[in-house]
Amino acid sequence: DLSPADMILFKSVHFAAFITDLGGTTSHTAILARSMAIPSVMALHNARGLVRDHDLLIVDGRDGVVIVNPDESVLAEYRLRQNQWRIDTDKLKRLKTSKSLTLDGTPIELMANIELLGDVAAVKAAGAHGIGLFRSEFLFLNRSDLPSEDEQYESYKAVAEALDGKPVTIRTLDLGADKQAPWGHTVADNPALGLRAIRLCLAEPGLFQTQLRAILRASVHGQVRILIPMLVSFMELRQTLQRIDEARDSLRKDGLKFDEGIPVGGMIEVPAAALSAGFFAEQLDFLSIGTNDLIQYTLAIDRADDSVAHLYDPLHPAVLNLIQYTLRAGAKAGKPVSVCGEMAGDPLLTRLLLGLGLRTFSMQPASLLQVKQQVLKSSLEALAPMAQRLLKNTDPDRTALLLSRLNG
Ligand code: PEP
Ligand code: MG
Repeated sequence: DLSPADMILFKSVHFAAFITDLGGTTSHTAILARSMAIPSVMALHNARGLVRDHDLLIVDGRDGVVIVNPDESVLAEYRLRQNQWRIDTDKLKRLKTSKSLTLDGTPIELMANIELLGDVAAVKAAGAHGIGLFRSEFLFLNRSDLPSEDEQYESYKAVAEALDGKPVTIRTLDLGADKQAPWGHTVADNPALGLRAIRLCLAEPGLFQTQLRAILRASVHGQVRILIPMLVSFMELRQTLQRIDEARDSLRKDGLKFDEGIPVGGMIEVPAAALSAGFFAEQLDFLSIGTNDLIQYTLAIDRADDSVAHLYDPLHPAVLNLIQYTLRAGAKAGKPVSVCGEMAGDPLLTRLLLGLGLRTFSMQPASLLQVKQQVLKSSLEALAPMAQRLLKNTDPDRTALLLSRLNG
């Protein structure tokens, strides 16, 4: 197994690929691997028993295949595939500067997800419209102390400046579950249902104030937005908005500048939040659907647990209905809604999401141009009825067919 914190340490080391026996494909470890553009195959169960030191491995991250000690012909075949992949990736770079429009001329916003300041180069290389999700908790991993307000401010400021006036959406701390805090909270039996994300921040007001002040201070250096993870209850939202007001007041008292109109958004990651999206949309400036958690909590599948990974299904009609419901609630309230979970970066799902009404996608930079390619060849009018068919489909044998028709 590898934790997200391990992956961050690996960022500075050169390695070709990795495989794990445990974990899930939308665990934060897998997400980091994708953002590092490192091939990986997770949840193999018994690789440790089958692979020995000095074995030669082919790791095909696209199809989820690992081959141990391949013979010459298999190796040659995979070298060809690797070269073809490089050629295709190079070709895609041409799309970097093309406008992101559907065939019927509707602009689609393509934003990037980042974990650390170092990811900004990839965001620029992909020509993203901005950062739709900055997972700020990665500043807090692999250390025993907490980053100070100034240290956080410097990081947020550096990202805001590097983005040159394009939006930078900084998500407040989402620790808990598979990203444990550096200080000693006891880990609950069910950490994904425990003191995680905004719950943890509201339980630690000092920690939250420090981060909010740092984000607000950084807002003078670019177009910064605040994003609150895992909102569920209306009381939490009220308390969160109060905490943000307190941070503003304290900065005013200290004579420090910030953007008075900084947009505050909320993540829709729990079915209860999706079903209350109308209320959240009215109270907030924007919403962002975190499909990784929305799927986890809707289908009761731990996204980090390999034993149920096969049940993790973005195409379950319940998931698609919650996404559509949230998009419609946002449209009704006149507030933008994005998707920033892994679904947004899967080119096989681009047309489906467009068909459900999504106009803003946020994803790991490595997927952005592939998704743009899909956008450029999509006609919205044709997609909506086909997306509805998938949304109503309860026959598991038809899912692949309906999706391929949508993508055909
Ligand atoms: C999500 O849950 O979809 C999301 C974007 O947040 P994270 O993956 O960091 O939990
Ligand atoms: Mg999440």
